[in-house]
Amino acid sequence: MVQDLFTFSPADGQSVALQVGVHPGYSFQWTGRRQPQSREIPQRLHAAFRSFGWRWPGKRITVLAKPEQGQPLGSYADVALAIGVLIGSNQWTLQDTRRFWALGQLDLRGHIHVPVGMEVPRILIDVSLIYFVPLVWKHAFADIPEVVGVSNLAEIFAYLSDGQRFDAAVGRNASKPPFLPMRLSALLQFQLQVLTAGRHPAFFVGPPGTGKTELARAIWQMTMHVEGPIPFVEPVPPNSPRIQIARWIQQAHGGVLFLDEVGEWPIRALESLRKPLEEALSDVHVLAASNPCPCGFSGHSTLMCQCTPSRALAYQRRFSAPWLDRFHLCAQVQSDAEDPWVEWEQILFQVRHASQLQLARNGTYNARLKGEALWKDISAKKEAFEILRSWQKSAGMAERSAQSVLRVARTVADLEGKVWVHERHMQTAIGMHWSSQGLISTFGPLDLGDSWTTSKDPHSLPPQ
Ligand SMILES: [Zn+2]
Repeated sequence: MVQDLFTFSPADGQSVALQVGVHPGYSFQWTGRRQPQSREIPQRLHAAFRSFGWRWPGKRITVLAKPEQGQPLGSYADVALAIGVLIGSNQWTLQDTRRFWALGQLDLRGHIHVPVGMEVPRILIDVSLIYFVPLVWKHAFADIPEVVGVSNLAEIFAYLSDGQRFDAAVGRNASKPPFLPMRLSALLQFQLQVLTAGRHPAFFVGPPGTGKTELARAIWQMTMHVEGPIPFVEPVPPNSPRIQIARWIQQAHGGVLFLDEVGEWPIRALESLRKPLEEALSDVHVLAASNPCPCGFSGHSTLMCQCTPSRALAYQRRFSAPWLDRFHLCAQVQSDAEDPWVEWEQILFQVRHASQLQLARNGTYNARLKGEALWKDISAKKEAFEILRSWQKSAGMAERSAQSVLRVARTVADLEGKVWVHERHMQTAIGMHWSSQGLISTFGPLDLGDSWTTSKDPHSLPPQ
């Protein structure tokens, strides 16, 4: 069975025709020009299939590539090849593979990325065709519905079989994409519920490949199940010191702004985000992620960190306490093959329920409570306040930190359906604060004139 598929060369937008044959036998054979690195493609496809529960056919797979000009076949053809193999092995049924072009590199989880070193192509749009591109490229084609941003293979299949749209990177015409199968520790699953239900800004720290981006997208998806279509904005990390935070916040209005790899950003750039992020709290759900150290593997369960202790510490010191205070909770992300699969429907049920409680009580989400409302509507027991106060004092935390913990504690209580915030809710919230997460605790703030240690905050805690 031979499939005709099309991808396009990112260098010049020219079509690249592929024929993928799946026949009896056991090898992977190529014909046509290709880049040397392309020999890794079969392994990537194999792993990607497994993570979605598709099987890698025990057959001979033949690929004939016909790049007419421009680049030889490379990782940009991963997605098109994967579709060819899935159809050829009768796992997908699609009538007409000639009506779309697909470009993207797959990772081992089956997620679609921009091929290394590629720029957004200037595609000549033929409106009779659909173009599948990595989701982050959708920005460049926000007004062109024929260009569909996708983050994984399952989205392509759902799109082609149901006509659903998932290209919500900037546009607001998203439907509800399927949740990815994911393994997460019980703690992380709980943190996910809390931060999604209360719309709490959160900071994820973990080694590469542990799914920090997927978590951010899952939060966005869950929120869409509650609120309907909202944008997801993941800015390309800045190469220049000019941070376009105002534009990102505007694009993400009502939705999720995901700042990835912030450990690689210049410190000044990070610090310049503090005020805008604070102001955006009521409009945008801000999520950020970083590796724990320069090599990325500090604290990894199986791989060794290659950094010297001083280098790893210097990396963590990049995040000042006032910067971290913009996030209500911090979660360490690890991947462990023993972790349970996430029961998305169950988490979603709780998130939806807790969201409704907050809206009914305050007309807004807990992360967005301000000033008077924060104290009036939080309904915490006296003992819970005492725990908060004594933690704040002993840990030397800013007023802003105490308010974050209080808001998170309210959400924890909402997830239990409790009217009052009890001591245990406060303890749980303290445990999810950045200062309790071990990784980032051994430094003071950068002196940039921020008044993070003053208690003259207009929203300060009630008198003790
Ligand atoms: Zn390291």
